[in-house]
Amino acid sequence: MNRSHKIILISHCLLNANSKIRGAALYGTVLLPVIEFLLKKDVGIVQLPCPEHSFAGESRWGQSKDQYNNPFYRNHCRKLIQPVMYQLKDYLEQGYIVLGVVGIKGSPSCGVKHTYKACWGGEMSGKKGEKIFQEGYLAKEPGVFIEVFSGILAEEKIDLPFVEVDEENLPDTLKVLDSLFISQ
Ligand code: SF4
Repeated sequence: MNRSHKIILISHCLLNANSKIRGAALYGTVLLPVIEFLLKKDVGIVQLPCPEHSFAGESRWGQSKDQYNNPFYRNHCRKLIQPVMYQLKDYLEQGYIVLGVVGIKGSPSCGVKHTYKACWGGEMSGKKGEKIFQEGYLAKEPGVFIEVFSGILAEEKIDLPFVEVDEENLPDTLKVLDSLFISQ
């Protein structure tokens, strides 16, 4: 059988929502409409590592980009991306087409155009905690993992499109994904 020689890199939780913070997923375990779409396109799917799960575990609290955007977490992201870069460079050297990277709208780590920001920190108990939770907002910028990933790609002079899945708007998400295939 002929292989398609096409690869796409996707955020971990699209295939495994167990990595998300508890209660955060709008789907069961696999985001089927997105994965089925990719399967029908006959593209090889590379599942990126989940930077938050591997940093703070399954029982972590939801955090904002402001909290994750620190040297410790950025270094953690860099280390996770290194083996992905080896895969990526090998595929590119062998003439494969890498269609792009698919992140998650709103994620403090994997957001591409939108990330959750909030200037949190410190004691969260009682009324003070409730007030703090109301201060978060969706900023038009990438999350930490995507920021680090695109920085490494720039260092390596590799140009890839980044798009994001909007779990609340799957019809538009599929259109965005489709655009990655149009020029190929
Ligand atoms: S950090 Fe990224 S891969 Fe992990 S659950 Fe959040 S959006 Fe998904």
